Amino acid sequence: MRVKTVAWLSRESAGRLMLLAVLGICGGILAYSIARIVLFQTERSELEHSAQISVENAGRLGAESFAAMEAVAKDGLPLCSDREIAFMRNLVFNSLHIRDVGRSRDGKVDCSAGVGRVSSPARIGPPDIAIRGVQFWTSTGLMISSEAHGFVLERDGVSVVLNPETFKTMEEPPPRYVTGFLYDRSRDLMVRRSGNVIPLNKEEIAAGRFVERQGVYYQPLCPERSMACMVAYEARTDFLAKIRPVSVAWALAGVLTGMLLGFMIIFAALRRRTMESQLRRAIRRGGLDLAYQPIVDLDSGMMAGVEALARWSNDDGEPVAPDVFVPLAESKGFVTEITRSVMRCAIKDLGDLLVDGDLRMSVNITAQDLMDPGFLAELERCVSAAGILPGAIGLELTERSMVDYGAATEALAQLKVAGYRVYIDDFGTGYSSLAYLHRLGVDALKIDQAFTQTIGTGAVTASVVPQILDMARQLDLLVVVEGIETEEQAEYFRQSKAGSLGQGWLFGRALPVEEIRKLIQQRSSMRHYESLAGTANRG
Ligand code: C2E
Ligand code: MG
Ligand code: MG
Repeated sequence: MRVKTVAWLSRESAGRLMLLAVLGICGGILAYSIARIVLFQTERSELEHSAQISVENAGRLGAESFAAMEAVAKDGLPLCSDREIAFMRNLVFNSLHIRDVGRSRDGKVDCSAGVGRVSSPARIGPPDIAIRGVQFWTSTGLMISSEAHGFVLERDGVSVVLNPETFKTMEEPPPRYVTGFLYDRSRDLMVRRSGNVIPLNKEEIAAGRFVERQGVYYQPLCPERSMACMVAYEARTDFLAKIRPVSVAWALAGVLTGMLLGFMIIFAALRRRTMESQLRRAIRRGGLDLAYQPIVDLDSGMMAGVEALARWSNDDGEPVAPDVFVPLAESKGFVTEITRSVMRCAIKDLGDLLVDGDLRMSVNITAQDLMDPGFLAELERCVSAAGILPGAIGLELTERSMVDYGAATEALAQLKVAGYRVYIDDFGTGYSSLAYLHRLGVDALKIDQAFTQTIGTGAVTASVVPQILDMARQLDLLVVVEGIETEEQAEYFRQSKAGSLGQGWLFGRALPVEEIRKLIQQRSSMRHYESLAGTANRG
């Protein structure tokens, strides 16, 4: 026996450990994957940002160069005169990036700020590219003199030499790099202007798509109106090295979250089991209480019956709603014990008041009670011991619990033959047709409070109520309306002439046995439910 307990415990613990491990691993994998995707995108947009900054820098540099060229072209001074050379020197002194400005004709430099007048001008050769009237020489070794070589632009007979260092400052520090290109869209020509040689073709650069090539991530940027295209890039290993620690941190957080979820599930299960054992113990020790709610005749306002409702407080003294503990007992297969206990108590509490037969008491039952072979015999024993007629007992079966119609039909037929009344509780929340319930021999319908509460609200469900009432009348089924809380709702059902009974807070809440006994004993003197509500409507 001891061995068995230990084995059970260890199986249980193994199950819990397994749950924690699975949820932890799943949480970790999920968080890691999400983090990788998010961080990858972030890093990628960082690369794009680098390319963007370089494009903007190139734009500024271009604007400064064009302004210098325009100033010289329009200086109105004699070509290559001392005054013009002085003017050009002034431009160079005032610029950070321009190394030299000169006058040039047919690719030959006549004079410049750096070298003055050139007696026999050297040809600097054909440009590498010409875009919108500007010629560019990208190789830095070709220029005017050894002091003034660099990146050259020429327009309208004026050339500008840019400091090659300028482009280096445009490149991001490692591990990110930028390679710049000049792009003539009209002729679809592209030349590298600065930076390292990269293995991307013109189309790929112009398209601006993120690509991975030979272990390096490349992000090109080629704005429509710009002459420059920039490609920012970073080695895959550097790229991933940055996101790995954060991804791992996320993965750990995922593991912890998954395990926390596991602990919560285990805790809930343990709590549920504790609740289950507390409930079983309470039933065994007669710890269930009963409350009785009046059911009134809507026309006369007289109390026509009561419904017995189970009440239970757990070991900490906290009340647990029947909507919680009844389904728990149902799912664990011991709800029949609740029904039997309620039945015995209720008949003990109010049996003497049911003897003369003009008051009816309802008890809630479930599909499991119908399947219980000893149920009817136990009921018969209680009823005959109290000397009451079976017709004074109503058995309320929720519509939802009638899962096995075949078996239910037989059990209901036996109850009917024995003289008990059968009510379908919470009608409208399941899917049974009224005609079918009628064939089952059901005596009454309890219209679910969800329908009652929509009366006067214009909700769609409210429109179903007249149809239910009509059908019930045609099939000669008694109607009990649940959850009547307002006079308007009571009046609606009174006007419907369905001969209905009503139950709800308007008439009275569920009361302890002593109070309901007092009400029942007083009821012969009451003509209208208001007087009933006046005393019963508490809590
Ligand atoms: P039910 O059988 O439909 O009982 C009516 C429920 O509606 C009761 O809730 C009652 O207190 C509540 N109620 C009555 N009038 C009003 C009203 O005007 N407004 C509102 N909002 N509610 C009203 P309670 O006692 O919490 O029971 C809930 C459900 O638990 C019951 O619904 C029944 O299905 C189940 N139950 C209670 N006692 C037993 C029992 O002994 N055995 C079984 N099998 N089920 C039970
Ligand atoms: Mg009920
Ligand atoms: Mg109900």
